[in-house]
Amino acid sequence: MTSRSSMSSQGPSPVVALLSTSFPLSGIARAFAEHFPQASVRIHDPEHDLSQLGNLADIDVAVCWEPPPGLLARMPKLRLIQALSAGVDHITTDPELPNVPICRIIDPHMASGMAAYVTWAVTHRHRLMDAYLASAARGQWQEQAIVAASQYRVGIAGLGVLGSHCASVLSAIGYQVRGWSRSPKPDLPEGVQGFAGDAALPTFLDGLDALICLLPLTNATKGFLNANVFAALARGAHVINVGRGEHLVEADLLAALQSGQLGYATLDAFAVEPLPGNSPLWHHPAILVTPHIATRTAPAVIAQQTRANDLALLRGEIPAAMIDRHRGY
Ligand code: NAP
Repeated sequence: MTSRSSMSSQGPSPVVALLSTSFPLSGIARAFAEHFPQASVRIHDPEHDLSQLGNLADIDVAVCWEPPPGLLARMPKLRLIQALSAGVDHITTDPELPNVPICRIIDPHMASGMAAYVTWAVTHRHRLMDAYLASAARGQWQEQAIVAASQYRVGIAGLGVLGSHCASVLSAIGYQVRGWSRSPKPDLPEGVQGFAGDAALPTFLDGLDALICLLPLTNATKGFLNANVFAALARGAHVINVGRGEHLVEADLLAALQSGQLGYATLDAFAVEPLPGNSPLWHHPAILVTPHIATRTAPAVIAQQTRANDLALLRGEIPAAMIDRHRGY
């Protein structure tokens, strides 16, 4: 274990702490060995206890998924907090978060993975694939009615790196696509209708057949998927949550499914993960649960982007992946 960071001809040799309270990080450590070999890596995760971090005063860079609250504040030399993900809510909720730049992952492969997932979710419901699975299981040749994709209105809340790619893919296969963001988008994908700001929310939602949540989790977006939003959609609409669990008001979802205002929900993110076995979401006939797998970033990308962000900060630049702490994303 190297005790101090230094500078070599290959660039900086920082002490990097890999931190997660929920999953093991050995695979990511191997990617650092290959793609950021100058870094001296220490791990604290479910398989490595806190003592594995050594002296916290040595640590230059922390790479995190749900870091233990208060731990980052005990690293006086920290110059970069790198999220293992596109979202940073699992870091910004730390009540003792130090004032250190926070970067997220921006990865085109993650956007492709997300587009594949939401396209599957939209077509699965729109084309009534549940009914085909049931008739196939009975050995029965039975067609369902088809609504043309051009008549099917899909809304994407959050038109960022992931949402805008999903919008262009869904539009390219013929869906009527709307997107909603905080600020207006001058460069919307072809065929996508954009809406910006709270005042435009009712028009964005009005009559949607499917609503996809791809917002970051912030104070402004927590509980976004609630009864008022569901009431504005077409009757029997499909809600797809690939944002965060706290975007969804679970009781409102169950009530809207019960009343028929919503017809189906595809959920990939949950307030408590893994979703507890006794959750009513698991066995609801109109809810499809997936275990936060909509998309992933390769460990190599995490190592490469950590290195690039650290170098940019050392040069006095602001990395493109740095989040605005005031906005929360
Ligand atoms: P991003 O590039 O930061 O985009 C966020 C979008 O949300 C932007 O268009 C932003 O508007 C909009 N937005 C933020 N606050 C808003 C508000 N109050 N009202 C309206 N629009 C608002 O984020 P991203 O990389 O696309 O990722 C989005 C989220 O996806 C992540 O934060 C994470 O929660 C989730 N995610 C899930 C998975 C999974 O596997 N399930 C994987 C990766 C990410 P502006 O454009 O005007 O700023």
